[in-house]
Amino acid sequence: MIKAVKFGGSSLADASQFKKVYEIIKSDPDRKYVVPSAPGKRDSEDIKVTDLLYKCYGEAKVGADFTDTLAVIKKRYDDIISELGLDLSLDSEFETIKNKLKTVTDADYAASRGEYLNGIVLAAYLGYEFLDAASVIKFDKHGAFLDEETNAKLSKTLKDMETAVIPGFYGSMPDGSIKTFSRGGSDITGSILARAIHADVYENWTDVSGFKAADPRIVDGAKTIDIITYKELRELSYMGASVLHESAIFPVRKEGIPINIRNTNDPEADGTLIVESTLHVPEHTLTGIAGKKGFAAVSIDKDMMNSEIGFGRKVLEVFEKNGLSFEHMPSGIDTMTVFVSMEDFISKEHQVIAQLHQAVSPDTIELEANLSLIAVVGRGMKNGIGIASRVFSALAEAGISIKMLYQGSSELSIIIGIDDKYFEDAIRAIYKKFFTD
Ligand code: ASP
Repeated sequence: MIKAVKFGGSSLADASQFKKVYEIIKSDPDRKYVVPSAPGKRDSEDIKVTDLLYKCYGEAKVGADFTDTLAVIKKRYDDIISELGLDLSLDSEFETIKNKLKTVTDADYAASRGEYLNGIVLAAYLGYEFLDAASVIKFDKHGAFLDEETNAKLSKTLKDMETAVIPGFYGSMPDGSIKTFSRGGSDITGSILARAIHADVYENWTDVSGFKAADPRIVDGAKTIDIITYKELRELSYMGASVLHESAIFPVRKEGIPINIRNTNDPEADGTLIVESTLHVPEHTLTGIAGKKGFAAVSIDKDMMNSEIGFGRKVLEVFEKNGLSFEHMPSGIDTMTVFVSMEDFISKEHQVIAQLHQAVSPDTIELEANLSLIAVVGRGMKNGIGIASRVFSALAEAGISIKMLYQGSSELSIIIGIDDKYFEDAIRAIYKKFFTD
């Protein structure tokens, strides 16, 4: 077995967390290749090192004094190093960072130093080799990630390394400058690593024991999902985003490598396994329920719309021209509704309406605000009978009216549109019907 392991910021927030990480890695000889995040929050009031680095950059950019902020960051690392009793000094690294920040013109270099330094500390603590991500994770000159080039380079480099700590979150562009992924991007680095070493599993260690079937802030005691497919997770992306970076599934997906979400603070728990496909029969019809508030619905009505060729394309072109991505687009015989984020739409509503009139001459256009979309997801729904009716009855019993309902032909999910004010109640009602009744 060979495992790629990634530890998030809260797992490496201070020396006591480092000790837990050490135990986890050393308890299994298959855990030879490790990706760390930068130190995260030690408590809810704390500031992540990455955020402090962005602050430093902001100060440096306007010519303000950033040395106090940098000193706060240095102290975080120095405390970890001294509490772990390591024979290591980051003084010269911080000198380099300070000098570079005086002239640096981009935020990515600054932000990446959190992972870079944490990688050095973790490698020293574990007695593993350190591999700077800048030398193996590659982006093109426009900042697009080069997956094949990176994969070839990384797997070749790691062939000669028995162990390695590779900092997450960043890589480099052809001119050598640093480029980061979007926030939370160490998850992507972990996935890239797993692919490069043909790992049997990508263990992603965080501070929760996997995905819950519903947001635990809404559903008290929501159960943990033991197995979920990549596709189900995509459907539940509203929920997954806070646990795993959306793009982290793509590299491992190419190789069919499962991702195991594990909890550094509860290493005995199995967590959630994300797989390509499984014969494992789910205990419940649904795998999970997730949703998001804050959508607007743009309903376009026109008699005989269904026979007008190109109608949908022309409508969507208007949204495209205005830089608006749509979330869902249910349609009827003479009507088509486009769901968009309210926040993005509201400043452009008048121009979009005017352009829709020009493009397709509709009879009417109606807008509806403050809508939520809820995804009810489960591979167990396939060929099941009466599932939509159970969703309906759950909502009816809770006195919630459904504004929109959509079931994909893959029978993996049902999407429901409701009023924002019923969001929490709707999730609770559906959860109760499928998981506890
Ligand atoms: N440290 C980076 C962030 O805070 C990347 C990561 O933790 O994955 O976004």
